[in-house]
Amino acid sequence: MLHKIISFVTATVLAVAGLTVTAAPAHADGCYTWGRTLSQGMNGEDVRQLQIRVSGYPGYGAVLGIDGDYGPATKAAVTRFQQAYGLPGDGIAGGQTFTKIYQLQDDDCTPVNFSYAELNTCNSTWGGGAVSSATARANALVSMWKLQAMRHALGDGAIRVTSGFRSVACNNAAGGASNSRHLYGDAVDLGAGPHTLCRLAQQARNHGFNGILGPGYPGHGDHTHVDHRSGRFWSASSCGI
Ligand SMILES: [Zn+2]
Repeated sequence: MLHKIISFVTATVLAVAGLTVTAAPAHADGCYTWGRTLSQGMNGEDVRQLQIRVSGYPGYGAVLGIDGDYGPATKAAVTRFQQAYGLPGDGIAGGQTFTKIYQLQDDDCTPVNFSYAELNTCNSTWGGGAVSSATARANALVSMWKLQAMRHALGDGAIRVTSGFRSVACNNAAGGASNSRHLYGDAVDLGAGPHTLCRLAQQARNHGFNGILGPGYPGHGDHTHVDHRSGRFWSASSCGI
């Protein structure tokens, strides 16, 4: 975000000085820029990049496939994303949709309110888990976009991450289960404040998390855990889940 503000200030100063400034495209896209309008039936890497950004809008209990194919589920997720930000909900990703995404992301493609550093306090390499470093990072990126959607739905109040990716050594030190999703990079533990742990667990059901563990599930009295394991497992009996 900061560089955009600087760019704006620079452009303003030049404009005030009477110099001609050609407007540059919105660039919070140090990592990715979309070059065409996307709609149902299309496919490609640009669709896959879009799917990552709207992965938090699959609808209750659903998980959006990140496969590069713009099918009905992707159209529905794009529509929910558009509606969440007051855009016309046509399910077609064009200029307004991409501009909103650029506003919501940093130059490393993480959403503005979450970071790789926050999702990994175990090591700097993302290595030593159950998958490759690249896969662990990619999984964490999807988790961040799901959390960004959840954060917005909760009124843009902060969501506090207390644990993310863990190597085997970090997971053992934390007392995690031997098959913990934290080893894959896609699990995130959330702490209370400003939202209650139950509020987090309940809301997570709308944002693409197949795994939700919270108060009432053994060992989860002080955090709510979310992940994207392959099949649904939700348990937070103290929260009615
Ligand atoms: Zn956890």
